[in-house]
Amino acid sequence: QAKAEGRNTLRFYSPDLESSSVNTISLETDLLKAISHEQFILHYQPKVDLGTGSIVGAEALLRWMRPDFGLTSPQTFIDIAEETGLINEIGAWVLNEACTQAAAWQSLGYGPFQIAVNLSPVQFFRQDIVQLVGETLERTGLRPEHLELELTEGSLLKDVERTRLTLQQLKQLGVRIAIDDFGVGYSSLSYLKNFAVDTLKIDRSFVFNLADGTRDEAIVRAIISLAESLGLKVVAEGVENNLQLGCLLSHPCDEAQGYLFSRPIPAEAFGTLMLERPRYLFPKQGGRLRKA
Ligand code: C2E
Ligand code: MG
Ligand code: MG
Ligand code: MG
Repeated sequence: QAKAEGRNTLRFYSPDLESSSVNTISLETDLLKAISHEQFILHYQPKVDLGTGSIVGAEALLRWMRPDFGLTSPQTFIDIAEETGLINEIGAWVLNEACTQAAAWQSLGYGPFQIAVNLSPVQFFRQDIVQLVGETLERTGLRPEHLELELTEGSLLKDVERTRLTLQQLKQLGVRIAIDDFGVGYSSLSYLKNFAVDTLKIDRSFVFNLADGTRDEAIVRAIISLAESLGLKVVAEGVENNLQLGCLLSHPCDEAQGYLFSRPIPAEAFGTLMLERPRYLFPKQGGRLRKA
């Protein structure tokens, strides 16, 4: 708040405010050092094809090994990273790391396999985002169709023309575009009207209470049929139990991701999981998920 008013504005703080602004400043200075001190890592969460039961991809999720705090979730620092612009450097690191890892898995024969990377709106609106993605693909040797960029609805509608152009250029590179957290923004349908995307990720708030006959089920069913009519792939996120899975299978949703299959795990653990080539056997009515 104070920052928005400019760094030199004189303000009086209550002790509470003071300690929280001290926290923000120390978060900022810690974050500044995080890349050069190699404190970031990626965890990978499998995406499961609900037709075949096999793992067809993974979402790369950022983790910060912050000294004195332990493994820290992006929810605690992405906002600050965006406000300070650090997200550009962090995001470039994420993209490079995820593509390098995916190319390595690809060459080990774990394919066909798609890696999904989250892109902040701040990064998306940079002049050089298309160049950055292109160069990263070239450097890492990852085939473009194996990279999917996940964009949140956030602020992309602020400049429809610019967004449309950037998406077009990214798609010309051959990468896939997903709308993350689909349905929670008020503008979800405008997205579909304006932008050519490949994938919808149903926000996990709709999946949370998913069961036959619920309002959430009606919404999820509508999103799935919308995606089908538009020829888009649809992925459900936050699948935690067999009830939710059973409901998604009956509609049917293309892919799912969630704790029921696996939490996000370090690269090495993910590699081990892929080596097992697990095939999930889906529950019949009322049954439980099994691994073959
Ligand atoms: P997201 O892209 O929607 O990612 C899904 C979040 O849901 C992840 O949280 C994941 O760990 C969590 N999740 C997955 N399955 C389940 C489940 O079954 N139940 C529950 N309750 N949660 C589940 P995470 O890793 O804390 O990331 C939070 C958000 O931070 C992400 O939401 C994404 O918007 C952002 N983020 C993560 N990594 C990056 C990154 O590299 N760059 C940018 N710009 N944002 C990132
Ligand atoms: Mg995501
Ligand atoms: Mg999401
Ligand atoms: Mg989400």
